[in-house]
Amino acid sequence: AKEKGRNSFAFYCRDMHKTQQMRLEISNALRQALENREFELHYQPKLNLHTGRISSAEALIRWQHPEKGMIAPGFFIPLAEEYGLIVDIGAWVIDESCRQISQWRAEGMAPLRVSVNLSAGQCRRDDIYTRVMKTLSLYGVESKYLELEVTESMVLHDPEQALQVFRALSDDGVQIAIDDFGTGYSSFSYLRRFPSKALKIDKSFVDGLADDIGNLEIIRAIVSVAHNLGMRVVAEGVETIEQFDLLRDNGCDYIQGYIISRPVRASEIAGFIVESERR
Ligand code: C2E
Ligand code: CA
Ligand code: CA
Ligand code: CA
Repeated sequence: AKEKGRNSFAFYCRDMHKTQQMRLEISNALRQALENREFELHYQPKLNLHTGRISSAEALIRWQHPEKGMIAPGFFIPLAEEYGLIVDIGAWVIDESCRQISQWRAEGMAPLRVSVNLSAGQCRRDDIYTRVMKTLSLYGVESKYLELEVTESMVLHDPEQALQVFRALSDDGVQIAIDDFGTGYSSFSYLRRFPSKALKIDKSFVDGLADDIGNLEIIRAIVSVAHNLGMRVVAEGVETIEQFDLLRDNGCDYIQGYIISRPVRASEIAGFIVESERR
């Protein structure tokens, strides 16, 4: 057992070294990616069930690595948060979203609201209010066309400060949505104080919907509370027609998921909207 212990210690040291090496490499690669413009935003449409139209889309970052190909945000965003690069990457996302909104408008497309995901670090280490307002005015974009998707865990660190910032943004017309609702520690009292116009039901509730009556009850409860607080309800990760029907019949306002569309390039979204209007 002693022998084994020593071996695993040596192993541990070597692994530590390797891990540190790898972390350094990834953090350098992320820095370079920003410089070399390797990031891209893809957009996933949300269907408004009341109008039958696509009036907004979520911006989702992609990393087009020159050798490794497309890298998903689920992999590199947590690393960027850890290495302190999320403020710069997040600033790029806000800038690129606003630039794209103004480009779509210049191309004559009907205005689309874009939802941007925020990370906790962006609230803590960046003046997010000034960043957002400056970027909107730089591109001449009206604030109502930008939505910020915020998770409950983002706010936990300093709830009072976060509430203040999001209230200020909301007062100036920027939309706030609560993302991944139901997965964190949100209490209903927090919901009431939060200046959000939309609430996104996490995919994990949508997944088991067709065969688990418990999930349907949870969704009904969330919809009821959200509507009473004046918020729209968006269901994310909707893949099947059964899920779609249940969500529509139980009061959801927007549907987002592969059943409508995967996230697509900015250039594809105009065509997609024209298609869906024709249907
Ligand atoms: P999220 O905000 O919960 O985004 C939804 C994720 O579900 C996206 O994954 C989307 O592509 C995926 N999705 C949408 N519809 C379906 C569906 O019907 N089925 C399935 N299986 N998946 C679906 P993605 O693009 O890989 O993003 C993962 C996460 O990375 C996001 O989760 C978000 O937390 C984060 N993220 C993405 N872009 C950004 C960004 O620009 N900034 C920050 N801070 N985080 C981002
Ligand atoms: Ca999101
Ligand atoms: Ca989400
Ligand atoms: Ca989610």
